[in-house]
Amino acid sequence: MYTDFQSYLQTTLKEIEEAGLYKNERVIVSPQRAAIKVSTGKDVLNFCANNYLGLSDNQELIDAAKKALDERGFGMSSVRFICGTQDLHKELEQKIAEFFGTEDTILYAACFDANGGVFEPLFTEEDAIISDALNHASIIDGVRLCKAKRYRYSNANMEELEECLKQAQAQRYRVIVTDGVFSMDGNVCPLDKIHALAEKYNAMVMVDESHSAGVVGQTGRGTTELHNLRGKIEIITGTLGKAFGGAIGGFTTGKKEIIAMLRQRSRPYLFSNSIPPMVAAAGCAMFDMMARTNELQDKLHANTDYFVAQMKAAGFDIKPTQSAICAVMLYDAKLSQQMAEKLLDEGIYVVGFYYPVVPKDQARIRVQISAGHEREHLDKAIAAFTKIGKELGVIK
Ligand SMILES: *Cc1c(COP(=O)(O)O)cnc(C)c1O
Repeated sequence: MYTDFQSYLQTTLKEIEEAGLYKNERVIVSPQRAAIKVSTGKDVLNFCANNYLGLSDNQELIDAAKKALDERGFGMSSVRFICGTQDLHKELEQKIAEFFGTEDTILYAACFDANGGVFEPLFTEEDAIISDALNHASIIDGVRLCKAKRYRYSNANMEELEECLKQAQAQRYRVIVTDGVFSMDGNVCPLDKIHALAEKYNAMVMVDESHSAGVVGQTGRGTTELHNLRGKIEIITGTLGKAFGGAIGGFTTGKKEIIAMLRQRSRPYLFSNSIPPMVAAAGCAMFDMMARTNELQDKLHANTDYFVAQMKAAGFDIKPTQSAICAVMLYDAKLSQQMAEKLLDEGIYVVGFYYPVVPKDQARIRVQISAGHEREHLDKAIAAFTKIGKELGVIK
């Protein structure tokens, strides 16, 4: 039986490789941070982690995790509703709600699960889900698991959204779904306009703040802070796997009846394990830190502004960004790979993206800035970009 299937897999894998789309993993042999060591022995500066606040190796979080490991054990061996809930999990849910200015929160093992489990329990074939075309894969999968009528509008296109909303008047309830920050361009969703349209056409709004929480808005409270909509958005999902320490975990936070219903019916919550006590405890310590100071946000914003300004001054074409994601536009797929490779030789770890991850002829290098970067890290990256950019004829 396996022989046929094996050769089918081998052929397909070869096709992936020949198309230049085979994903190889670079192995890191140090903690995740700004300056890392990879398995070849090379020391590089990391500009491709979602470690926006530099918390992946933060001592305060490590200490909180160690303490919980000693006091609360290693794992929960249970889903939440059987015997997988400690006070730590309840505390973390409350702290997330306070951070976002929402009513209640439900934790998941990952944001992939939060998005996978948010639609099906809430909406039926009588309802409408109106989704941005560039929404994250987990939103797309979550929508697929739900019988609601689907509508799709091009990225941040408010005319198309309005058209969808007009058509969706035929359904019972409507929810507009968007990423807070779109990960390839770094653009923030126009939440103010989305919210206004939702009011006009009697719809709810869901925002996935995975790339925006901790980053966007003056104090990093996300797109609802940036657009002055705290407490006005019905559903927010997010991850503990990016700015918030980078370990593992996701959440849905918002209106309390919605969260209550998810606790009753959301399948990734009901049928998947509770996050470990050390992750919950470190999460609590992290939100305490956020409540205490905006130091990391200030540093991140200053770092991003500096990097973008210097790169533009060097002559690079940078997509307008309101996040910590800077897309250095190269347009040519091969060039994006060449440039990333040469930058790695210079000790700068970045990734080039091209079709089908981004639209055709929109190849780029995505740079992710962190509060963990020092000015000297940024200067080294800018110098390397400038040197290689000149070498490859990207800039003069
Ligand atoms: C990273 C990401 C996710 C997945 O988060 P995990 O916690 O790693 O599963 C979901 N949505 C968006 C928009 C993301 O960027």
